[in-house]
Amino acid sequence: RAKGSDHSRYWFFNRQIHDTLLRQHELLERLQRAIERQELCVHYQPQVSSMSGRIENLEALVRWFPEDGGEPVPPSEFIPLAERFNLIHRLGDWIVREVCRQQACWKAAGLNGYRIDINFSGRQIAVPGVFDQLQRCMQEYHLNHRDIGIELTENVLVQADDSVLESLHRLYHRGMKIAIDDFGTGYSTLSYLKLFPVTSLKIDRSFVTDAPASPRDRAILAGIVFIAHRLGLEVVAEGVETLAQLELMRDLNCDLVQGHYHFRPMPAAEVQRLMRDQPLLSIP
Ligand code: C2E
Ligand code: MG
Ligand code: MG
Ligand code: MG
Repeated sequence: RAKGSDHSRYWFFNRQIHDTLLRQHELLERLQRAIERQELCVHYQPQVSSMSGRIENLEALVRWFPEDGGEPVPPSEFIPLAERFNLIHRLGDWIVREVCRQQACWKAAGLNGYRIDINFSGRQIAVPGVFDQLQRCMQEYHLNHRDIGIELTENVLVQADDSVLESLHRLYHRGMKIAIDDFGTGYSTLSYLKLFPVTSLKIDRSFVTDAPASPRDRAILAGIVFIAHRLGLEVVAEGVETLAQLELMRDLNCDLVQGHYHFRPMPAAEVQRLMRDQPLLSIP
């Protein structure tokens, strides 16, 4: 009996693995087609000043709305898939190009001074020359190093080899902003702040969510902000969804906030309207 039930459990798991693989394979083929047919697009989420509420920068977030009528597939699902199956190179190049094109368009329309931050995943920065490619693309669109920023998670940084480190230093010295994304969820060793040429910390949403109810989280946040500011880094709070969270992040001296409380990620045309409607200079 016992043997029999083990056996059926085996088949059960096998079945699950089989289904998962099948789904992945299917998704992979659809993703390949989506890249070829340009079904992907980039949405932009504003980062606003915690003091004035003014939009300062944007984060580029890739979106996939399948044209075969399927549900939108979140990047948390297809980025890892693209990484595993060597599509991240093409996908990453496409995102970089699309963001550079959009930024050039906005600058030509007089919308200046809004940096657009691009996320780079682990396998993506492992592709040799990925940052040279970024620079070439920026040159092609006549962008300067303040027009585009880079976001890397701690877990991505920990995999970075010497050539990546070298590229990051080069970009840093040319004035490019480099943010550590999801700060506090990875290895969180402060040696990153020593080793890597970063300019901003993006505090992970989990701290922001818990902070209003948790003195411990607030103490951690206050410490992070203190260290960051002593190092001359800019602090961004991710995932601000409520007024209470906003006020807390402002009290903790976070420079910028990003989250649904202000704006969700949105299509280029929508964010363009927002930028256009904002006064040129903030009046404190
Ligand atoms: P991330 O870089 O940390 O991006 C922030 C994520 O939080 C985004 O999810 C955004 O939509 C979401 N978010 C923003 N404000 C709020 C909020 O107030 N509440 C909640 N619950 N969520 C909020 P998204 O777009 O699904 O992206 C997930 C992750 O996928 C990103 O995390 C990033 O790691 C990766 N990703 C997205 N776009 C790209 C891309 O173009 N290239 C690469 N390599 N990775 C990307
Ligand atoms: Mg990010
Ligand atoms: Mg993040
Ligand atoms: Mg994240």
